[in-house]
Amino acid sequence: MDADVPFVLGTVPMWVTMVQLLAAGLVGGFCLLQWIWWRGERRRAGAEWALIWSADIALLLLAGGLFAFTDPGAVQDALQFAHTQLVGLFLLLAIPATRAFAAGPPIRWWVAISTTLLLGGAAAWWWHPTSPRHGVDVVVTAVLVAVALISVAYVVACIGSHKVSRLGALLVVAGAESLAMLTAGGIITNEYLSAMLVALWSIPLGFALGTMALVRLRQAQRVARTQHLMRDATARLANAAWFARDAESLLLRARDEARTILADPEVEGSLRTISHGRFVTELYSPAAHTAQERTFLVDLSQIVSAAAERYALTSSLERTAFSDPLTRLPNRRAVEKHLRDAIEQANVERTRVSLVYCDLDGFKRFNDLHGHEGGDAVLVRVADHLRALAQGDAQRFVGRLGGDEFVVVISRAPQDVDLVALARNLREGFVDRTVGARAARLSVGVASWVPGDVVDPDALMRHADTAMMEAKRSRTGFRVYDRALRRRVEAARHHRAALETAVADGQFTAYFQPIVDARTLEVMQVEALARWDDHGHLLLPADWLELAEETGLIVPIGLAMLAQSRRALDRFQVPVAVNLEARQLAAPDALEQIEAAWGDTYWEHLTLEITESALVRTGPAVPLLSELRARGAKIAVDDFGTGYSSLARLSRLPVDVLKIDRSFVREVGTDRGASVIRAILELASVHGLDVVAEGVERSSDLATLVDLGVRRVQGNFLGRAAATLPIRGPRPGTGAWHAQRPLRSVPTQPRGPETGPLTVVHNLA
Ligand code: C2E
Ligand code: CA
Ligand code: CA
Repeated sequence: MDADVPFVLGTVPMWVTMVQLLAAGLVGGFCLLQWIWWRGERRRAGAEWALIWSADIALLLLAGGLFAFTDPGAVQDALQFAHTQLVGLFLLLAIPATRAFAAGPPIRWWVAISTTLLLGGAAAWWWHPTSPRHGVDVVVTAVLVAVALISVAYVVACIGSHKVSRLGALLVVAGAESLAMLTAGGIITNEYLSAMLVALWSIPLGFALGTMALVRLRQAQRVARTQHLMRDATARLANAAWFARDAESLLLRARDEARTILADPEVEGSLRTISHGRFVTELYSPAAHTAQERTFLVDLSQIVSAAAERYALTSSLERTAFSDPLTRLPNRRAVEKHLRDAIEQANVERTRVSLVYCDLDGFKRFNDLHGHEGGDAVLVRVADHLRALAQGDAQRFVGRLGGDEFVVVISRAPQDVDLVALARNLREGFVDRTVGARAARLSVGVASWVPGDVVDPDALMRHADTAMMEAKRSRTGFRVYDRALRRRVEAARHHRAALETAVADGQFTAYFQPIVDARTLEVMQVEALARWDDHGHLLLPADWLELAEETGLIVPIGLAMLAQSRRALDRFQVPVAVNLEARQLAAPDALEQIEAAWGDTYWEHLTLEITESALVRTGPAVPLLSELRARGAKIAVDDFGTGYSSLARLSRLPVDVLKIDRSFVREVGTDRGASVIRAILELASVHGLDVVAEGVERSSDLATLVDLGVRRVQGNFLGRAAATLPIRGPRPGTGAWHAQRPLRSVPTQPRGPETGPLTVVHNLA
């Protein structure tokens, strides 16, 4: 042992050894604890270096402590060697540790030089391992001093360019103290003091490192706890997003969570739309926050944005499900829901609910004329008109049922008088004059639910619809579903059911009215007229024809008339005329139906009467009529003169007979009436048509008709319709018709349209 040699362990008092060992135990134990705590956790690089550094110090102290218990010899030499190497390692570790703490410049060269020096020192030791090693100790000391200078230089280089934290300052002070003690230990000549300094120099730094690690650990624990709280808060907010109703309330909640978790009352939030259905949320605070805390704020913001997008999408889906895309009015579903709610509320409040049902007159035609764009435009105008009506009145709810049907639901509705005024205003306030079309108008029907009625929104809808139809039918344009209409509707329903049963039970019988030769009064033909035999009570077409046409029941009735007429032909041996309604011609299998009812013979003894207006309306039926004519049947234009058809058009139709309407026949006594008949006769002769004057009620009229040249007449004066007729074929010596045309089946001669009587087109109008 040489007292002149610094950095070398020497004899120290027992208490120093005890302090050494105690410190070694503390620092070492703390290293172990640190290592266990940090395991698996994320930690900063500095923490690792500090740990290695502390471990080195612990070993250094241990080697020093143990030194006192050894006698000079191999073991003591080994401890001495280990101690020196650990001092060297301590100095070397200062470089990476400082870099990790202060993010200093690259250390490759610093470490390389220090390591080389230390290896050189170690090698010198082994060159002369046992004491006394005078020359070698000098070399080792020089190496340590050099490495210490390099480390100090690096530390100064790093710290010089950095703001040092409180912990950093503690470390620097402790490091400086340790270094000073180490240096002093090397310089002081007092052997006793020098040995003590060499034994104890590392303790300040060891404890500073321990303190720092402890503080760091506490910080890390705090961060981990905050992270945990943040995760919880994020999950809470994500859950709340499913229950919140709007993005604003969710944003407030996110802001409050952030304020609590970050303990920062200055956190604020904002929510903005960037494009259709896209949102940006921001949570911010003027206070400085760590990266983790900022990530937390971003996470919360993203939850709010995603939820806002979801709410927007849901509400837009809901809007489409409950609104009409064209007019943006509530659709049928929404109206039905509102109506149900309104009636239920009215039931509690004992108030009335009215439903105003509007329908655009002739919308289909308007659409055909102007195309769908024009149609859409007028619908939008109707919607605006109704919307304006409901504007600012919470009791009124406007919706579109579909097509051209709109409704206004009125809660706490007024009395019928006021509703009539409202319906009238609605009707009169809307006149759409799109160029080139007839003014489009609304037909308005109103029905009300009153306390005491059954809660049945469908019934209310039906009643309002009925009132609207009635408004349309009666051409008044508006109608309230009142007691009278209710009674009428019920009667109609009853009537309709009865008509259906009557048709099913075959209660329709053909009555026959003669058509006679005007001069000889011979029966030339009979016209079948339908009668409803309601258990002995005869009902004329006036009572049921309209309903039969509406319901389509006229088709089976007409076919029954055809079949009965065919039997009458056999019975009376006189040609028959049967009325056909436009509907009957419209069926795709109309020809088959007619053939099935009539049979396949005697077509030439059948005349089919179609009213002039029906004929004009059913253009598509023309081929069917030609088909029937080709079989031998004749076509008569019934009620001729009332259909206002263009004669030019009529002349192109496949017809054989004109039946002058009784309204003209009645006027035949006047000059004007006579000239009308004359004109019709002239027209008929030009086209080679037969003429029948119907509704002859007076002998004077018959005489005038004969004078004018009418060949055939029909009317009450000549014979009323009856179930049976006192005739059987032509009487002997008369009957020009049957003399020429015996009543027998003749083969059907196909007649093309070009061979028909009307080939010349004249515009006589
Ligand atoms: P229509 O084809 O013009 O039939 C003539 C109508 O005038 C019959 O009335 C007849 O009874 C009535 N009449 C006959 N002579 C006179 C008269 O001198 N004065 C007056 N005021 N009336 C007279 P009805 O039987 O009530 O039939 C009314 C209408 O019902 C018919 O008019 C016809 O359009 C329709 N109709 C009758 N039966 C059928 C049928 O089986 N099928 C179809 N589709 N329509 C029918
Ligand atoms: Ca007729
Ligand atoms: Ca007629």
